[in-house]
Amino acid sequence: MSHDSNKLIAIAGGGLLGRLLAWQLLRKGFAVHLYEAGAFTPSPAAAFTAAGMISPYSEAVVSDYSVYRMGLFALDQWQQWVADLQRSPEQPPLFHRQGSLVVAHPQDVSELQQFQHELRHILPGEGGYRTVNGADIRQLEPDLQPGFQQGLLLENEGHLDNRGLLDQLFADIQALGGQCFEFTPVLHVKPHTLVLEHEEKNYPLVIDCRGLGARSEWPELRGVRGETLHVQTREIQLQRPVRLMHPRYQLYIVPKPNHRFMIGATQIESEDRTPISLQSSLELSSALYTLSPAFAEARIVETGVNLRPAFMNNMPRVVVNDGIITANGLFRHGYLLAPAVVCNVMAAILNTADAPFNSYLRSAYDHTQP
Ligand SMILES: Cc1cc2nc3c(=O)[nH]c(=O)nc-3n(C[C@H](O)[C@H](O)[C@H](O)COP(=O)(O)OP(=O)(O)OC[C@H]3O[C@@H](n4cnc5c(N)ncnc54)[C@H](O)[C@@H]3O)c2cc1C
Repeated sequence: MSHDSNKLIAIAGGGLLGRLLAWQLLRKGFAVHLYEAGAFTPSPAAAFTAAGMISPYSEAVVSDYSVYRMGLFALDQWQQWVADLQRSPEQPPLFHRQGSLVVAHPQDVSELQQFQHELRHILPGEGGYRTVNGADIRQLEPDLQPGFQQGLLLENEGHLDNRGLLDQLFADIQALGGQCFEFTPVLHVKPHTLVLEHEEKNYPLVIDCRGLGARSEWPELRGVRGETLHVQTREIQLQRPVRLMHPRYQLYIVPKPNHRFMIGATQIESEDRTPISLQSSLELSSALYTLSPAFAEARIVETGVNLRPAFMNNMPRVVVNDGIITANGLFRHGYLLAPAVVCNVMAAILNTADAPFNSYLRSAYDHTQP
């Protein structure tokens, strides 16, 4: 595919935002150079470790209202984007929209009720969720243990096969002629310029999507540690993510391809990337076991640790200056907010008058100032 070299854009960071932007730009006829510090697959990105839940209702209770609004947008945008990827019908679907189920053990039901009260208070009069009883739960998820008597079905929520998505985006970027450079760290991003280890490269426009790797430009960026377990078993099937309410920790389990389940995730104010702690692995695995004893024979096939890139207010930022655009700070909402962020950045590049979610995302910060 031929591209106009005046429309050449360089992207630093080949995680979630970097890949989505590269793909969108290529589809609009731009040429793209995508630089990644690590490998493209498996990827060191937070996006690779993530659960891939699109959960605006669950997040509404613990986040700013704008996260909910942008999350609703994401549900439709992901449906569209996944349909636009060059995927054959035999391949497993990347996006699932069967909602998510919130349950609590009888002794913890007050946690569930509190969650429901908060949801009603924050989203008065809005649908998208309903209470379910024991019989409903058994019908929705027959493989859960039968003791759950109350729950909430967040009907509108969805989840992605995030690793399948990252691989598919990479394949589509290459198929569309994008040039991808792995193991090529970008040390600094300046207007029109990427500083690599041994050279500086100039471009009409550069986009900084390095997540936590952009700290040289954003000293206030911090990493928030998240730990995960992956288990594999053929004994259990789940149709949708299940959240377990508990007084001390809230955990979720997300079905993944190949009979795998991801259990996550801790949220710890630490930038420690060392392996999962014994306490976290005990909490995650015992919560899993209480969802169904059939998980007892599941094999632990992976443990994961990564850092969520976050600003102090845990809100994302898009900064647009001449020759440089930065998008960062997606925290625990990367998949939930990426559609809003990517559409906002695309609007800046295409000079669209009404960029979506400008008031939530755009931040004034002049990269040309020292
Ligand atoms: C355990 C866990 C669970 C999560 N679950 C969810 C979830 O269910 N739903 C949800 O919406 N979000 C979730 N998230 C959050 C989500 O993963 C992040 O918000 C998202 O990945 C941020 O996207 P990003 O592109 O900004 O950063 P990343 O995905 O981290 O990508 C940044 C990329 O830049 C590269 N890079 C870094 N430095 C450099 C450099 N100097 N030069 C070149 N490249 C560089 C990195 O290697 C990486 O590939 C979760 C995160 C974690 C850790």
